Amino acid sequence: MLTKRSYIDGIHPEAELLKEGAEWLRSGELVAFPTETVYGLGANALDAQACEKIFRVKGRPQDNPLIVHVSSRAMANSLVGSWSPEAELCVEHFWPGPLTLVLPKTSIVPDIVTAGLANVAVRMPSHPVALALIEETGLPIAAPSANLSGKPSPTSGRHVWRDLKGKIHLILDAGACQVGLESTVLEVTGGVPTILRPGGISKEALEEILGEVRMNTPTESQVPKAPGMKYRHYAPQGEMIVMIGHQERVIQRMGQEIYKGHARLKRVGVLCTLESAPFLHNRLPDLLFVLGSRARADEVASNLYEGLHLCDERGMDIILAEGIEEGGLGTAIMNRLQKAAGHRIEYI
Ligand code: AMP
Ligand code: MG
Repeated sequence: MLTKRSYIDGIHPEAELLKEGAEWLRSGELVAFPTETVYGLGANALDAQACEKIFRVKGRPQDNPLIVHVSSRAMANSLVGSWSPEAELCVEHFWPGPLTLVLPKTSIVPDIVTAGLANVAVRMPSHPVALALIEETGLPIAAPSANLSGKPSPTSGRHVWRDLKGKIHLILDAGACQVGLESTVLEVTGGVPTILRPGGISKEALEEILGEVRMNTPTESQVPKAPGMKYRHYAPQGEMIVMIGHQERVIQRMGQEIYKGHARLKRVGVLCTLESAPFLHNRLPDLLFVLGSRARADEVASNLYEGLHLCDERGMDIILAEGIEEGGLGTAIMNRLQKAAGHRIEYI
């Protein structure tokens, strides 16, 4: 298949490109497009066969449900059976934006979209291209991240191209995504709202509006509420270790690992904060990627996947990542780092 990668204006998207994307989507094909979180691989959410293609192209397990993207409240209403007062508050305060709401589904949502669950995950993105494309299509769009399953999520057209060229017809490329981390998934079916996946909207921000909010921490025996959370995710090719603790000791430990890696002729990449970069620079890693300042979790979030992709592109065998403080966006960042590392974490 020939894949066309079209550059589209991220603020004032060109009408012809939106039309082209909408035509592919309406005819049951897949289109990759930017959102403020990560790039999405979109399909008509009401067409089970189109959605099946998403699973095939990504190599995504069928029990991992898809988030459905909408451009209006009316479109969301067609998918959701009933709205709790908490869900209404979320819509009012956080839509459009990086918050996905899990609510009872209507019968028009095909089973493949929800992996057979009675609830559907719905989000209204804020990216002008995403909103305009959904509107032009006139249909809700199911869209997981536009990468191969298990790999780091795509936050630029280049990342999408690397994973999906030859597999889909069209990539709309508007450059880097602003948030750079997936949406927060929040169950709001009644009772205490529960975060199924931390993401672009922090628990603290939700609590300001909703009062008590719970973080779902599934145990082994429990049936997972958000099935996708059990899979290895976001993982680069190299062997990755996250190091958390006192800054000087982390730098020291990374220095040792760089030295040991080089002794085994391995290429070692480092993902670190701005504050630690000068001290790691002279340990001569093969790649030094600055995630952002410790004081700016939003910066770290928006650069994280670019760092992981660069490590793959430059063939790093070992990747050392500096952890950052939990809380706010830091919680979502650490969630992704830990998964990317297959839970190899050193507390130093
Ligand atoms: P992704 O598309 O890779 O960003 O993943 C979407 C994630 O949202 C899934 O892995 C689930 O964790 C969650 N999700 C999607 N739909 C549902 C649903 N119906 N119920 C609960 N969680 C969901
Ligand atoms: Mg994904």
